[in-house]
Amino acid sequence: MVGSVPVGGGAPITVQSMTTTKTADVEGTLAQIYALKAAGADIVRCTCNEKEAAEGLAQIVPRSPVPIVADIHFHVEMALAALEAGVDCLRLNPGNLRKAEEIRLVARECKDRGVPVRIGVNAGSLDPRLMKKYGGATPEALVESAQVELGLFAEEGFDNVKISVKASNVPLMIEAYRQLSEVTDHPLHLGVTEAGPPPAGTIKSTAGIATLLCEGIGDTIRYSLTTDPVEEAKAGRVLLEALGLRKRTSVDLIACPACGRAEIDVYKVAQEAQAALENRQIPLQVAVMGCVVNGPGEARSADLGIAAGRHRGHLFIRGEIVRVVPEDEMVAALVDEAEKLVAEGFEARLAAADKTAATEAEADRLALLDHRGADANGSQARVDLIAKRLNSQPGASTEP
Ligand code: SF4
Repeated sequence: MVGSVPVGGGAPITVQSMTTTKTADVEGTLAQIYALKAAGADIVRCTCNEKEAAEGLAQIVPRSPVPIVADIHFHVEMALAALEAGVDCLRLNPGNLRKAEEIRLVARECKDRGVPVRIGVNAGSLDPRLMKKYGGATPEALVESAQVELGLFAEEGFDNVKISVKASNVPLMIEAYRQLSEVTDHPLHLGVTEAGPPPAGTIKSTAGIATLLCEGIGDTIRYSLTTDPVEEAKAGRVLLEALGLRKRTSVDLIACPACGRAEIDVYKVAQEAQAALENRQIPLQVAVMGCVVNGPGEARSADLGIAAGRHRGHLFIRGEIVRVVPEDEMVAALVDEAEKLVAEGFEARLAAADKTAATEAEADRLALLDHRGADANGSQARVDLIAKRLNSQPGASTEP
């Protein structure tokens, strides 16, 4: 348990993030913690790097909506001060706090207070002795670092521990966690450290974390992105929702990539819909489709969607057209219908459908098909051209 949040042992996978404020700034840090919770964080870490930070934690912990982990960096005094402040968990980096007697002291204090520890091994700050032994930060070196720390804790009879073996190199991080999961049953905290700014940082983190989660490895996750930490929490939540590891509480917006058939600026409408819906408690899959010719059919598994055609928006619920609205009211209509769906349910909203909408949509669909033809991207003309070019070359043949 990290405070009131279970980690490991079959508990739901949790999302973590870290504040970027000075921990001594109590109000600023609490504001960020609340924003992180709203974005999907279950547990938040704060730095405890100086006396003022520890004093700040003493005021933050009782007012925080989520359990607080203190990162204590290099000094054992900061670990003890964070414990006095009442934090729910400590993060110790074996590469930074290296003296065995200090590690044992922290273990004893945590054991007495029932406070868990994350052993947070990091490839970039690995103990030089292990770097020398393995010739660098290898998966084996990362795992051994965690095991050495576990051994010191075990000498004190302390095993209330979760572990991370992070690296910024994704294949290294994946292999380290795989090896670690073979040698320990402690809960694992997953992350790609120093992943960098989005989108590359988000992609790298997802590659590492999702690969492991799909192998059944990992109990809690953190995206380490060089951006507002709210984006970290959001990314973690979205990943868990996408993998079906967390109950959806907010919208899942899907949209077609647009093509020659698109009747609207799909990117713009999708972004407007995302902005209008994303911070609401609307656990629906909502589709924005560029045309009514293919849209409602292609997105029939979505709970709700809108497809464009002949300057109108065709609103559909699970593939069934329920309303036709002017093009400039598409996003507003989508938001309105999403709210009603959540409040009234699918049956009621399908029963309230405009009975003429399906006929109007079909008329628009047929008119568009008639106008643009079945091959709206003009692919057939290109195929014909390629065949013609190849056939005109000496000795060329289209026959196998
Ligand atoms: S056919 Fe229509 S729905 Fe499909 S990608 Fe093109 S515009 Fe979007």
